[in-house]
Formats: sequence, structure tokens, C-alpha cells
Amino acid sequence: MKHKILGKEIERLINALSKLPSIGNKTASRLSLFLMKNSPELTMEIARSMVEARKNVKICQICNNFIFNEVCLCMDSTRDKKTLCIVENVFDLISIENSNEFNGQYHVLQGLLSVSQGVGPEDLKIDSLINRIKKNMFEEIIFATDPTSDGEFTAQYIKERASEYCKKISRIAIGMPIGSEVDYIDQNTLTKAFLDRRKM
Ligand SMILES: [Zn+2]
Repeated sequence: MKHKILGKEIERLINALSKLPSIGNKTASRLSLFLMKNSPELTMEIARSMVEARKNVKICQICNNFIFNEVCLCMDSTRDKKTLCIVENVFDLISIENSNEFNGQYHVLQGLLSVSQGVGPEDLKIDSLINRIKKNMFEEIIFATDPTSDGEFTAQYIKERASEYCKKISRIAIGMPIGSEVDYIDQNTLTKAFLDRRKM
């Protein structure tokens, strides 16, 4: 009988890691070996922080932002209820919050539409977004998706579905170099991109 070099524990670990985005079998194997040869404390620390974060962080059913202690930005009564900013993910939301230029509501799509990656509307939080737009009658909807082809395509697609419910739909200005991502842009540029937003 052939000797099995990897035990079933390592195989299970490699298999679990390879389910993460952008991690193929090769990277998963490399990460597993890295963990095994380093101190057990490192592995424990990673495992504990994953479990704790997953247990304590919830996703808001309205805007898909992270919720800590049952409180979400969208519940804050001091924020403008009539303006909605649409972002790809929570990191983009944080960048916009840090720019202090926006005090309205957000909707986190949890991704972008992508023909090349096979991501369709049913994979993102788009139906819930359209329902939210129908119900809230926002005065302005601002797209802050990345200035990439997927970001533009996503904004166009949603705009077409939302335009009968909102008169003013805009896109943050692409003063930023093409290919920039919202969460990498410095705050001054992001503030300017908001102020210079153009009608779609
Ligand atoms: Zn929320």
C-alpha cells in the first residue's frame, strides 16, 4: 500500500482554504505548510480571530453594511434619508465615510457585475436595492463603484432599473486615474470626486 504523505487533517485544511476567493489549490497548500511549520500560536490566533469575527459581526438586512452591537449606519437618525450612495463593498463605504463628504444612506452591493467572472444580478444585492429605491423615493442616487469596466457596467445596469423611481442619478467624478479603486484613492481626491459628481 502506498504511503500517504499528507494526513487527512492537512488535506482537509488545504481543501477548506482553497474555497476562499483567489486561493487555488497551490496557494492553499503553500499556506497550510506555512502554518504547520510555524508556531501553533499563530494558527490558533488566526482561527480564533476568524471564529470571533464571524460570530460577532452581522450583515444589515437593509443596507448590507457590517453591524456591530446591533447598530448600523442606516439606523442613524442624524443622517440624510434622501440620498443613497451605492458601493461595491464595505471597504469602499469606509473610505467614503472617512472623506466626510457624504452623510446619506449607503447600499453595499457585495460585488460588481462581471461578464468575464460570470457574476450576474442574482449574485449581488440588486433586487433588494431596487425594492429599497421603490420604497424610499430617494432624491438622489450616487454611484461610487470603481471606474473599471465592471464598475461602469454595474452602475449602468442599476441606473436603468432605478431611473423610473429617482430623477437624479449621478456618478462620482472619474477625475481619478482609470483603474483606481475607491478604497485606494486618497481622501482629498475622493472628496473632489463626490463634489464633481456628474449626472448619469
Ligand atoms: Zn444598515
